[in-house]
Amino acid sequence: MSKRFNGKVVLITGAGSGLGQASALQVAKEGAKLSLVDLNAASLEETKSKVLEAAPNAEVLLITANVADEKAVENYVNETVEKFGKIDGFFNNAGIEGKQNLTEDFGIDEFQKVVSVNLNGVFYGLKHVLKVMREQGFGSIVNTASVGGIRGVGNQSGYAASKHGVVGLTRNSGIEYGQYGISIKAIAPGAIMTPMVEGSLKQMDPDNWEEVGKQFVEPNPMKRFGKPEEVGYLVAFLLSDQANFINATVIPIDGGQSYKY
Ligand code: NAD
Repeated sequence: MSKRFNGKVVLITGAGSGLGQASALQVAKEGAKLSLVDLNAASLEETKSKVLEAAPNAEVLLITANVADEKAVENYVNETVEKFGKIDGFFNNAGIEGKQNLTEDFGIDEFQKVVSVNLNGVFYGLKHVLKVMREQGFGSIVNTASVGGIRGVGNQSGYAASKHGVVGLTRNSGIEYGQYGISIKAIAPGAIMTPMVEGSLKQMDPDNWEEVGKQFVEPNPMKRFGKPEEVGYLVAFLLSDQANFINATVIPIDGGQSYKY
C-alpha cells in the first residue's frame, strides 16, 4: 500500500500528549517527517520514542515552545523550514481547557490565559505557516476546535470563546487561501479520553472521576469516549492530498453527540 505521507513534512503543536501525539504516530506510520512542538520537553521525548517504535526510519525534530508567544511560533516555523525545507501539513492543535466555572466567576486572568493559548496560539500558527505555504504553493492545515466551538457546553467561557474563534479563523483563512491550493479545516472533537479530559473529570470529582466519566458519556449516542487514535486517523486523512477539496469547514468527531437534542 502506498504511504500517503512519503516525502511529506508534518508540523504538529501540542505533540507531547493526547490528540497531537496520536496524530504524530499516525502520519509517521504513513511516511511523514515530523516537526513536533510542545511546551513540555519531556513529553516531546516520550512522543519521539513512541514514533520511532512505530516508524523506525522517521525523521523527527523536537521544538520546545509556547504557542501563546508569537516569537516562539515564528521560531518553530523557521526551524521546521530550515531542517526540512517545506511544510506540507500543519496540525495547529495545542490547547488547554482552563478552570470550569460560571461566567460571573470565571475570572479575567483565567479567560485571558485560555484565549491566549487556544485562540492567539492558533492565529500565530496560521500567520506564520500560511506565509510559507503560500510561497511554496501547497499545504493543508487542521486546526483543533471542539464541540465547545460549535455548541454551548457550559462553565467554559474561555474555552467556548477561544474554540468558536478557532472556527472563525478556519472559515476566514480557508476562503482566503483556497486560491493558492491550500486547504484549511477544523476538527470539533467531543470527549476523547486524553490527559486533558482526565483532568477535567478530576475537577468534577477527584476521588470518583472514573464513575463520573461513565455518567458523562451516558448521553452520547455511542455511550463511550472517543479514542485519541480515532482522531489521529481523521487528522491524517484531512492533512493528506485526498482531502484537498475539504476547505473552510468544521468536522465533528464526537459519536454524534453534537447533533442530538
Ligand atoms: P492534552 O492535554 O493531552 O495535550 C495537549 C498538549 O498541548 C500537551 O502536551 C501540552 O503540554 C501542550 N500545550 C498546552 N499548552 C501549550 C502551549 N501554550 N504551548 C505549547 N504546547 C502546549 O490535551 P488533548 O486532549 O490532546 O487536547 C489537544 C487539543 O484538542 C486541545 O486544543 C483541546 O482543546 C482539543 N480538544 C480535546 C478534546 C478531548 O476530549 N480530549 C475535545 C475537544 C477538543
